[in-house]
Amino acid sequence: MFKSINNIYWTDSTNALSSKSFSCGYCGKESHSTHGYYCKDNQNRYLAYIYLCSCGNPTFFYNETQVPSPAYGEELHHLTPEIKTLYDGARNCMSINAYSSAVLTCRKILMHVAVKEGATEGQKFVTYVDYLSENVLSKKHKSWVDTIRTMGNDENHDIRVANQNEAKMIIDFTEMLLKIVYEYPEKAKQTGASTPTSNTSPKIIGITGVKP
Ligand SMILES: [Zn+2]
Repeated sequence: MFKSINNIYWTDSTNALSSKSFSCGYCGKESHSTHGYYCKDNQNRYLAYIYLCSCGNPTFFYNETQVPSPAYGEELHHLTPEIKTLYDGARNCMSINAYSSAVLTCRKILMHVAVKEGATEGQKFVTYVDYLSENVLSKKHKSWVDTIRTMGNDENHDIRVANQNEAKMIIDFTEMLLKIVYEYPEKAKQTGASTPTSNTSPKIIGITGVKP
């Protein structure tokens, strides 16, 4: 069946599409679908595809773009509801190429974690990054911290558009921090290992309390 809009023709091609392997942004599984739709222009050139995953949801492909793509980063299970909502939101921003939103959300998380770990409220982003570097992370993270700090251009309230690499970098950094502050201590608790109490603990360096 054809649907024509502005000389672009979408065709229902159930069982006629060449198989495509992709990570589904809805169910997170690898899909090898042949079901979906393709579109051509009025010169019969292929423009884009929609593949249907076995979970029933559609994924749009145009050149190298996949929408939605899978959430970026690892799913974490021992966060507070608020932090989990923000962290998953940042991961999902990557699915729709909303890199600046991902960066802004991660910055919010980093500031929140810094305050939770004892930093004074109302500071600049770079101050919180420094606090995390000095009180939560190890020396091995220094170069990473320096990169994250450059994303904290608070001085003149510039609007700055982030690119994909920057967004990935800050999500990776946030993921690591959340594992140290929330994930590993909770896992240690569940396995019966002793773990320092947050806020009153000395520096949390590495995976404190997790048995080898
Ligand atoms: Zn799926």
